[in-house]
Amino acid sequence: MNDIYNSLAIVLRTFDAGEYDLFFSVLTRDFGKLKCTARGIKKMSSKNVYSLTVGSLVDLYFLAKKNASSYLVTGAKIDWKPDYLKNSFTKNKLLFSGIQLIDQLTLDEGVFDQDNFWEFDYLFNYLMEINRAKSYKKALIYHIYFVLKILDHYGFKPEFKKCIACSKSLKDKKIYYSFRDGAFVCENCLFSDFKNTQIKEFPFSALKAANFFMNNKAEVIYKLKLDKNILKALLEIVTLHKRYCLGF
Ligand SMILES: [Zn+2]
Repeated sequence: MNDIYNSLAIVLRTFDAGEYDLFFSVLTRDFGKLKCTARGIKKMSSKNVYSLTVGSLVDLYFLAKKNASSYLVTGAKIDWKPDYLKNSFTKNKLLFSGIQLIDQLTLDEGVFDQDNFWEFDYLFNYLMEINRAKSYKKALIYHIYFVLKILDHYGFKPEFKKCIACSKSLKDKKIYYSFRDGAFVCENCLFSDFKNTQIKEFPFSALKAANFFMNNKAEVIYKLKLDKNILKALLEIVTLHKRYCLGF
């Protein structure tokens, strides 16, 4: 008889695997990311497992021994899930993009000798925060904060303070993101070394906001006043930089 393990888990992806089986990928709090199979679900018409949608927080029980390429689920109780029906389309898009980011960065292997999977807490806080955000703007601010913190955790802390060419502090009204370097250039250096590289102009205040997010905790990020254009620029900076670092 195999031992049964238990952990809280967030559903990252679900795949239909035949008439009676459900195949899904979870990020567990205690064992990292795992692939799981739930057998005979439709036969048992278990309501609980049916509602294992992406983003659900479940109290998961599974056999310790890996069966082929996945772990066999013996029980799953849903504790919480995002309110996809009540949320706006744009908010749901943010929810999925956060889940996808963690899904793509974590490896598909149960790790049984580590006891801190920070990604779980980060993702759980993210889902809760986006789900309860009263406006899309608020959700977007948290999303930007989340992506910056994740990049930082994975060792991609962006250099958003100094010009990549002359190392002087960036403080001009306009600054330029170099696609080649994944960093910013000041107005002075722009015409020397960067003639043939792809660059994009941004307002300095967007970069200032990015630095504020990087250096502060979630509790204070909403205190920063951001107008629509700055927020748009900030989102673009973070998205460009994520693509530069991670390739997606
Ligand atoms: Zn410079």
